[in-house]
Amino acid sequence: MKSFKIHLKDQLTKEVEAGPIAAQEALRHLHVGNLHRVIAVNIDGESRDLSTLIDSEVALEPIFLDSEEGLEILRHSTSHVMAMAVKELFPGVKVSIGPAIENGFYYDFDYERPFREDDLPKIEEKMKEIVKADLPFERSEMRSEEAIALFRDEGEDYKVEIIEDLGEERVSLYKQGSFTDLCRGPHLPSTGKIKAFRLTKVAGAYWRGDEHRPMLSRIYGVAFAEQKALKKYLHKLEEAKRRDHVRLGKELGFFSTYEDIGAGLIVWHPKGYMLRHILEDFEIHEHLKRGYEMVKGPQLLKTELWKRSGHFENYRENMYFTEIDEQSYGIKPMNCLAHMLIYNSKIRSYRDLPKRYFELGLVHRHERSGVLHGLLRVREFTQDDAHIICTPEQLDGEIKGVLAFVKDVMGIFRFNYELEVSTRPEKSIGSDEDWERATTALMKAMDDNDLPYQINEGDGAFYGPKIDVKLQDALERKWQCATVQCDFTLPERFDLFYIDKDGQKHRPVMIHRVILGALERFIGVLIEHYGGAFPTWLSPVQATVLTVTDRNIPHGENVLKSLLEAGIRAEADFRNEKLSLKVREAQIQKIPHMLIIGDKESDKGGVTPRLRSGKNLPFMTGDEFTALIDEEIKQRR
Ligand SMILES: [Zn+2]
Ligand SMILES: [Zn+2]
Repeated sequence: MKSFKIHLKDQLTKEVEAGPIAAQEALRHLHVGNLHRVIAVNIDGESRDLSTLIDSEVALEPIFLDSEEGLEILRHSTSHVMAMAVKELFPGVKVSIGPAIENGFYYDFDYERPFREDDLPKIEEKMKEIVKADLPFERSEMRSEEAIALFRDEGEDYKVEIIEDLGEERVSLYKQGSFTDLCRGPHLPSTGKIKAFRLTKVAGAYWRGDEHRPMLSRIYGVAFAEQKALKKYLHKLEEAKRRDHVRLGKELGFFSTYEDIGAGLIVWHPKGYMLRHILEDFEIHEHLKRGYEMVKGPQLLKTELWKRSGHFENYRENMYFTEIDEQSYGIKPMNCLAHMLIYNSKIRSYRDLPKRYFELGLVHRHERSGVLHGLLRVREFTQDDAHIICTPEQLDGEIKGVLAFVKDVMGIFRFNYELEVSTRPEKSIGSDEDWERATTALMKAMDDNDLPYQINEGDGAFYGPKIDVKLQDALERKWQCATVQCDFTLPERFDLFYIDKDGQKHRPVMIHRVILGALERFIGVLIEHYGGAFPTWLSPVQATVLTVTDRNIPHGENVLKSLLEAGIRAEADFRNEKLSLKVREAQIQKIPHMLIIGDKESDKGGVTPRLRSGKNLPFMTGDEFTALIDEEIKQRR
């Protein structure tokens, strides 16, 4: 065997006298520090097991357990451990696949009954035994036919199907202890490297996501490099449960859904609808301030028109259709068409542009029932939608205007956010040149404003590229809200034009944009962001008047009346109950101000406010309290 060189990330070079040599050995020779934290290795840029034998010149890079790549390997390896535990505990179970996902992993099983939450502690215990035994993950390769025979013997039909579909000549297997899995790898060197994991939930999942195939039982888990990180994550998970908008939405009397009405259709209760109204009011104000005009189109438009716009061709499966007088109509999934007809209702001069049409547009879109979730994914929702129709020269300025709008609004809600640009998808309309022009315009607007962004290849709308805004909530979760889409195609299809300085017809450009996006979804995000404890300016109920005894009811009624007259959203609890109980209930309702009305308040004609936080304010007059609320609203606190 000839000697060869091993490089460490272009730094050190080691001459190997005679190979082969395991990657782990090579790293040791190259004096890599903290070798006990290294769990895999990049060999010429490809991640591999530490036990991989090297017999020619390569460049190595250690993968540390707590790196992004390392965590992915840890999480995936933990799924192998879980599969082994499940196989030992539940004879006859069949395994399918077990990938790493964000923060953790899952594995799909086929068992005589679905797994339950109460199976998880037992599985965790078994996993801990496997971890403690520190079993090495051993890689082997064999011919596909051999592997098929092996898995068929074990009754592992899903593995057989996977190998058959792969159509490779050879496949790799990994074995730890008694458990062998088909896998590309890489894995941890041994199970003992797993230090912190937890099984979190079970769910049903169709084999290969196909509803015609068997329903498998999926077990989810999380895994981290160390206990501290796991604890932090679990705390966040608890916090997310506490803030769950579906539960809070019910507790706070915001909204509900009914099987009798249909999935993904929201019924707004008084407090939820009030919150919606506050947001809509806010939106109208913010739009008018920025030169938008309010418009409204109908819910139904003839299918012929949807064909002309390209929606029928490209978006049909998300739409609902109906028939009136033997004429087919489509229920609008977007608001663009009526806006274009409004534009076309008269001849526009360059002096009229830009036109900015704003609609709180109710739309219906078909979403698969499996993805519907509370307010976050629904079938009927209202977008704060606008279409800006402008000259090509105005495009940059208009995009910048929208980005500034997004910045203002996100600032008001105190959200951080990130930007992403999505480029041309496979199913799309328009020329390459137009797509190029529109994509460049979006990127330029962000570059000019020094806004960093990511690129999502092929994720644009069918009519144009877009900027997506992802906001970050109090738990650092990301949510899609605003989008800005550039469109050269619909103006063409609907023959939009304006008369330019030269007296000739020219084609305008259209921007489709939303700021909060779907109000339903945004409210869902807001509920979780604030944990239901809305700031005063957004609270459906800003103050509640609580009497100490029945003697105080007349003054309580006066206070309530004057609050309502001052435009404060107030309610009262005059029941003959203990004050402590009334306070507790108001606290559960997360009302920001409680006005305690006892004898002192009745005699002196004022109120003593108590804040949601438990803090008591000094006695004050009704006017002083109104001024205090007005100030909070003004500052959007
Ligand atoms: Zn694997
Ligand atoms: Zn649109």
